[in-house]
Amino acid sequence: MSARHWLALFVALVLLAPLALPEFTVTLLNYIGLYALVALGLVLLTGIGGLTSFGQAAFVGLGAYTSAVLTTSTTLPPWLAWLGTSTWLTLGAGLVLTFVFALAIGLLTLRLSGHYLPLGTIAWGISLYFVFGNLELLGGFTGMTGLPPIAVFGHALTGGREIFYLIWLFLLVGVVATSNLLDSREGRAIRALRGGRVMAESMGVDTARSRLVIFVLAALLASVSGWLYAHMQRFLNPTPFSINVGIEYLFMAVVGGAGHVWGALLGAAVITVSKQWLQDVLPRLVGQAGNFEVIVFGIAMIVVLQRAREGLWPALARWVPTRAAPRRVDTGAAALERRARPAPGQALLDIEHVTMRFGGLVAVHDMALGVAAGEIVALIGPNGAGKSTTFNIISGVLAPTEGEIRFLGQALRGKSARQIAALGISRTFQHVKLLPQMSVLDNVAIGAHARANPGLLRGVLAGAWHLERRLEQRLLAEAARHIERVGLGPHRFEPAGALPLGKQRLLEVARALAADPCLLLLDEPAAGLRYLEKRALAELLLELKAEGISILLVEHDMDFVMGLVDRVYVMDFGQKICEGAPEEVQRDARVVEAYLGGVE
Ligand code: ADP
Ligand code: MG
Repeated sequence: MSARHWLALFVALVLLAPLALPEFTVTLLNYIGLYALVALGLVLLTGIGGLTSFGQAAFVGLGAYTSAVLTTSTTLPPWLAWLGTSTWLTLGAGLVLTFVFALAIGLLTLRLSGHYLPLGTIAWGISLYFVFGNLELLGGFTGMTGLPPIAVFGHALTGGREIFYLIWLFLLVGVVATSNLLDSREGRAIRALRGGRVMAESMGVDTARSRLVIFVLAALLASVSGWLYAHMQRFLNPTPFSINVGIEYLFMAVVGGAGHVWGALLGAAVITVSKQWLQDVLPRLVGQAGNFEVIVFGIAMIVVLQRAREGLWPALARWVPTRAAPRRVDTGAAALERRARPAPGQALLDIEHVTMRFGGLVAVHDMALGVAAGEIVALIGPNGAGKSTTFNIISGVLAPTEGEIRFLGQALRGKSARQIAALGISRTFQHVKLLPQMSVLDNVAIGAHARANPGLLRGVLAGAWHLERRLEQRLLAEAARHIERVGLGPHRFEPAGALPLGKQRLLEVARALAADPCLLLLDEPAAGLRYLEKRALAELLLELKAEGISILLVEHDMDFVMGLVDRVYVMDFGQKICEGAPEEVQRDARVVEAYLGGVE
């Protein structure tokens, strides 16, 4: 069966469920649907974006309380009171408020990195919970009652069987829209977060923006869940919005499989059902009342993190035979615009007096180097000479301690890696940085990310509704072209992590080319390649040169460098010891000394 068939089967089951199942089970399914909506946000945020949040329950509360206050309070000013006439208006109000809150909280906390970010989410999660509990307007810890049911075309959804369809419709739309989004240009930028900020920013992805996008989307999903919950229960108190519940949501996403949209539903179902069951069984086993399930969940969490980090979804998906939809790339898609190339011979890159200190270590000292348009230049030297550090300085990954770097007459110092990429410098990494689970095609398309920008709102909305196809096809066709060029054509749809290391380096070359650079920085591109592959790479580099792309490359294999490059710079201990034509450099006594003393 294809994925589409499974989806149809799933929809059919959802449609039939309330007709066939007892009231108790339908209520349980309602809760599963509500929890799954929140867990879906966490899949996006944590599983795919790598940002852990313990605070999602607070956003559920924001959606719930906004709607509750607007529909029940009698003391609101008239300009607010009219919103309370329809639960659909209050849904909108809740979403707007959540958007504003999430944007503000996101701007404040997303700058934190490492474990400071999860700690930050705990902080605002707890704060909002106490706001809910202490505001008199919200009924304090006793809460609010008398919430109206949601009405659809004048019909009030009072029973569990009625609201069931609405909950599951929201969930289904959420899951489909999220998975569409992840397949779009904007989604690739989100998935690129996992490859590390250095790689993503060097490829022109605005990682701060992607982080904010998923944070806000996850909050909005939670807010919708809160609205549905409030009008299903028709009373509210702060308990379901506490940090404990926030931890439970995260647990659901992790157990289900935080890297997969359907993992959210699976996790919500498994946790909800087993909690129900444990609450029944454990007190009888122990012989006294108590929340013993919490202990079991704690142990289960540790087991999952140790044994099945990917969660249950991948295990389930293995058992369910799915025919993958045939993937194709429309090679006829309109080509992306290319940037103008500088005239051959024009000064392209110039670095002067560049020094880089890491604490007491001087990795690069008073380095100078230049590349003219249309040249291939090699930077060689023993291990630890400072070559990769020089690359990191040029590409904006590192800020030099001292020195000047100019590219096409512009000073690069103080510019971010993304700004430098936008100017037309693209690079590969000595230690490959790619997304092993993503296809070769998607990995390379990240390189072309910045060449087409439909804008944030359009990007997100069009991605979620699959309206972005033409742009997406142009990006993929561009990526496919470069994959073909570096000789990875047959591996296009394979996960990048399955390639041998040499081919992963070629993938990085294709990704860099997809950015349409004027200057290509290649850090040991031929390492791990076989003889014939090296020859093919050298030919490709000469072709690129003929097309007006300039290349600066780090390489150890002198034979590879000799027939290929116009000039060579030799570094040792952070300093330039020699420069010139390849034959001159090879004869230079200082170079022989550096190599014999350094490597042999
Ligand atoms: P190469 O690429 O020529 O082999 P590198 O530029 O990677 O050399 O490294 C030059 C020196 O700088 C090495 O001694 C290395 O250990 C040090 N170095 C590189 N990056 C860092 C860093 N981020 N922090 C501290 N030391 C570093
Ligand atoms: Mg290096």
